[in-house]
Amino acid sequence: MSRKLFIAGNWKMNSSAASSVEVAGGMAAQLGSVDAVDLAICPPFVYIPGVVEAFKGSNIGVGAQNMYFEDNGAFTGEISGQMLKDIGCRYVILGHSERRHVLGETDQLINTKIKKALSDGLEIMFCVGELLEERKADQTTAVVTRQVTEGLKDISRDAMSSITIAYEPVWAIGTGETATPEQAQEVHAMTRGLIGELYDSELAQAVRIQYGGSVKPGNAAELLGCPDVDGALVGGASLTVEDFAGIVNSVL
Ligand code: PEP
Repeated sequence: MSRKLFIAGNWKMNSSAASSVEVAGGMAAQLGSVDAVDLAICPPFVYIPGVVEAFKGSNIGVGAQNMYFEDNGAFTGEISGQMLKDIGCRYVILGHSERRHVLGETDQLINTKIKKALSDGLEIMFCVGELLEERKADQTTAVVTRQVTEGLKDISRDAMSSITIAYEPVWAIGTGETATPEQAQEVHAMTRGLIGELYDSELAQAVRIQYGGSVKPGNAAELLGCPDVDGALVGGASLTVEDFAGIVNSVL
């Protein structure tokens, strides 16, 4: 089955009011009418409205990098899924390795957030991936299996159409070190098999699995050419129009 590729940019805690609008404007001009590939950018919360405005009338969606699992109330510093919808977000990234390992998010918390994001009508990029020491200890399959199984606990088959899994080996994020296409393909195929066990093989064939970890214009075509790699979640190289467009154009 051929799945439509989905390439998304995660700006992390980067950019400014001016640069976010400038870069988004450049992306809208260069990539706004692409429709062979789904595209999205996830800016920091505060720059989302400017990016939504810059992408108006284009095919590029906007997402957030995180959300909280309550609608509103006494949760100082948090942002709800409803607020994200309210300002024009279509997507939210959940379970990013920096949320897991820098900010202490657990599989259970991520599962709670995924369920809430689904009920808010957001589409989710659900990140999983092993640490370097886990890969070295041959635990990649065990770690990714646990993260996927726990993260998707009690999530219905129907809801899975709103979820993209992003396999992001932590050792390859922001390090310049990329998984080889063989390494990525192996984990993607294993993950697709797991979705087949958790749900069924039809859903396993339909679910999109992005790769993330130092994707650049120079390595994107090879990684995205793997049969089970259905797109990319791009950090550093999504911060400039040139690099992000280079990645997208390499698969068009
Ligand atoms: C990411 O932010 O999810 C990521 C993969 O970053 P980078 O592309 O910079 O490794």
